[in-house]
Amino acid sequence: MPLDIVQIPVLSDNYVYLVRDPKSDKTAVVDPAVAEPVLQELNKRGWVLTHILNTHHHGDHVGANEELKRLTGCTIVGPRADRDRIPGIDIAVGDGESYFLGSAEAKVFDVPAHTRGHIAYWFADDRALFCGDTLFALGCGRLFEGTPQQLWSSLSKFMALPDDTRIYCAHEYTESNGRFALVIEPGNAALQARMNEVRRKREKNLPTVPSTLGEEKATNPFLRPDSPEIQKSVGLMGGDVVAVLGKTRALKDEFRG
Ligand code: ZN
Ligand code: FE
Repeated sequence: MPLDIVQIPVLSDNYVYLVRDPKSDKTAVVDPAVAEPVLQELNKRGWVLTHILNTHHHGDHVGANEELKRLTGCTIVGPRADRDRIPGIDIAVGDGESYFLGSAEAKVFDVPAHTRGHIAYWFADDRALFCGDTLFALGCGRLFEGTPQQLWSSLSKFMALPDDTRIYCAHEYTESNGRFALVIEPGNAALQARMNEVRRKREKNLPTVPSTLGEEKATNPFLRPDSPEIQKSVGLMGGDVVAVLGKTRALKDEFRG
């Protein structure tokens, strides 16, 4: 039986997700920034929260941990490498381990870069990846606590997954990410087509998340440091992929578009 996945838009651009295993009735919330919209959605569906799955320690991902735990008694799962910064954490997990939400297996990847303790949850049977702020649709998270080398090895773990993997990232940043992507890879026809679609959706205030890994590999500049057009744009023709990725990230940090 497939997982039930519900996307809840909160704050200005965050996505919080409910993930329910219908076999066991276990229900998790991924990165609850705030409690109220999560409780409302649970109520509406008659679901009982059993777990919080955190990807990293930032406030817009763990903000409701303690309140939800107090109200529901749920178990909080988070990154071992950052256990001291995850409020209320009960179970710490790390690279290569599995966590079972009832009968649903989530494989855990350590994906340091945005923060040093960032993890992702990969529900292989459902082709669902919860990647927090590591990878975004058409972008990636800022390097607050990591290096371009770490970012590349983290993104490479995702790139090894099947192309039909759905990327459940934590923010709706797609349109502004895409504006940058078009500046450094203007000749990418798949990117142009995708951006037209993204603009159409955002005009109607529709989500552009989740995307698929296949789409990201074809259009996301941070998964494409081997693209000659990107290498030329960042001034590192024939450059090493990590150097190109680092330069691309640095240019994006300064990009105002
Ligand atoms: Zn973050
Ligand atoms: Fe965030």
